[in-house]
Amino acid sequence: MILFEELLKRVERPARYIGGEINEIQKDPASCRLRFGFAFPDLYEIGMSYTGLQILYGILNGREGVFCERVFAPRQDMETLMRENGVPLFTLETKTPVNKLDIVGFTLQYELSFTNILNMLSLSGIPFLSKERKEGMPFIIGGGPCAFNPEPLAEIFDLFVIGDGEETIVKLCEVFENWKRAGGRKEDFLKTACTIEGVYVPEFYIPIYKENNEIETFHKLYAGAGTHVKKSLVPDVNKIDPPEKNIVSLIEAVHDRAVIEIFRGCGRGCRFCQAGMIYRPVRERTKETILKAAKNQLKATGHEELSLLSLSTSDHSEFEPLVKELMEMCAGDNVSLSLPSLRLDSFSLDVLDKIGSYKKSGLTFAPEAGSQRLRNVINKCLDEETIFSSLKQAVDNGWSSIKLYFMIGLPTETYADLDEISGLVRKIMGICGRKRLKITVSISNFVPKAHTPFQWEAQDRYEEFVQKHNYLQEKLRIKGVTFNYHDSEMSIVEAAIARGDRRVGMALIKAWEKGCKFDGWSEHFDYGRWKEAFHESGLDISFYTSRERGYEEIMPWEIIDSMVSKEFLIRETNKAKLAATSKDCRQGCEKCGINMCLRSRKPDI
Ligand code: SF4
Repeated sequence: MILFEELLKRVERPARYIGGEINEIQKDPASCRLRFGFAFPDLYEIGMSYTGLQILYGILNGREGVFCERVFAPRQDMETLMRENGVPLFTLETKTPVNKLDIVGFTLQYELSFTNILNMLSLSGIPFLSKERKEGMPFIIGGGPCAFNPEPLAEIFDLFVIGDGEETIVKLCEVFENWKRAGGRKEDFLKTACTIEGVYVPEFYIPIYKENNEIETFHKLYAGAGTHVKKSLVPDVNKIDPPEKNIVSLIEAVHDRAVIEIFRGCGRGCRFCQAGMIYRPVRERTKETILKAAKNQLKATGHEELSLLSLSTSDHSEFEPLVKELMEMCAGDNVSLSLPSLRLDSFSLDVLDKIGSYKKSGLTFAPEAGSQRLRNVINKCLDEETIFSSLKQAVDNGWSSIKLYFMIGLPTETYADLDEISGLVRKIMGICGRKRLKITVSISNFVPKAHTPFQWEAQDRYEEFVQKHNYLQEKLRIKGVTFNYHDSEMSIVEAAIARGDRRVGMALIKAWEKGCKFDGWSEHFDYGRWKEAFHESGLDISFYTSRERGYEEIMPWEIIDSMVSKEFLIRETNKAKLAATSKDCRQGCEKCGINMCLRSRKPDI
């Protein structure tokens, strides 16, 4: 067999495959009872920027007898060499073939990475379908936001961890170790695992379909499995230490910096946003915990940049004193501070000015919709006056380039709403002074997601997206304005998988067989192959995308309980139709069903 070193000489960026970075953990595999592979279905540079990897890597390796190693998707050059030379997919830490591990855990961040999962299984010599994997083969498990509709992967994965993974993964390890010690069969492990809160074992349920292709019901095949699987939730995130000894990438990662998660969840309630629903309620880390973790992580990694992670950074209740103390700490250590996901108000702009780590050329802002009516529909509580005054202040403070994010295809949208996007841009140009300002208008396409108030809504058809993109392109032919938009075909496949049922799994496999992989990269995405894959699986993509669903329809994710009630989601959808807004959790509880909010003044009781 070809030597690993020989492969490295023939690929671009060999550092993607060698491991050995600062803070990598090594253990003696022979002394470990559980060998875990944390698998990220994309390239090393992207996976290494993912905080969830650093969190779970630390937790798993913190357990005696458990060894967690990393696995990434190889780039095409490496994959070709591996296939030509019969080299199986391997872990970074010990170069162990993935099929020799006990558990392989994939993080499910984006639907268009699912074919990479299949490609990684194929490179590992692991059969795709759970029922075809023999005793002794690794368990394939998944977690992350896409696990909230696990059905397209239901026949491929053995189990899913729904919700916060930190505590569930430890319980799962304990179950595995006991099961291994007792010498049980695969089925015995799954039967015990499904009793852990947040664990969904799909083979214990079978969907029955109606003639019109909707789901009639789910039959439970194992009496010990729950009727619903409630997400796992860590009520107090302060009890879980943020990772401090993050692995430092050998090559430039997408984000090469220390990162501290400052809170989980978001109370703003944007109706299209899946993260805002599935990660409820808001749970903050205290300022002291954040400062201590930031100091320790910077010391352990030597990073020269620190970033804060959350869905809306400036919503932290101690944001101002926190930023002040972080600025002092960073200045002392010669570290730059970066603050993504900021609400652009006058305090944030002043902070950005002071920390100076932002190039004055680039400031991003997401009104999402052009008209106030449509912003109310999506519950993006932002008025024109705030938009104009923030941008005016930004330009007065020296920013010369602004990036504005909008989403098109939103429920109830008309061309009048699109006109207001260009109207808004023109007004901003007028207020801020045309000569000094460059605006980039970036358009994404609405993708209805599971567990959101818009989960029942139809997505625009391809032709509608194209027509709207062309329309906006014409309307935004303004000097100083650059226009770009997301690929409509990618948004359609994303939507088909995001709300797909178990049958979509066959289309995923067929798409992979036709050569689909790295679908999230526009240069690799091939809509023609996806259309063929759905068609050959006997499925109509539009059934999953451009069809409005009724409230009574059983959704593929019926068994998964996000703890946000269906009544709340329906209430929000009905309010959206009236362009009525709902309060941010900090202003008062809207009774979403979670009923355990640490920061809500009026809990949902
Ligand atoms: S229960 Fe109330 S405060 Fe808590 S997340 Fe839901 S709406 Fe927000």
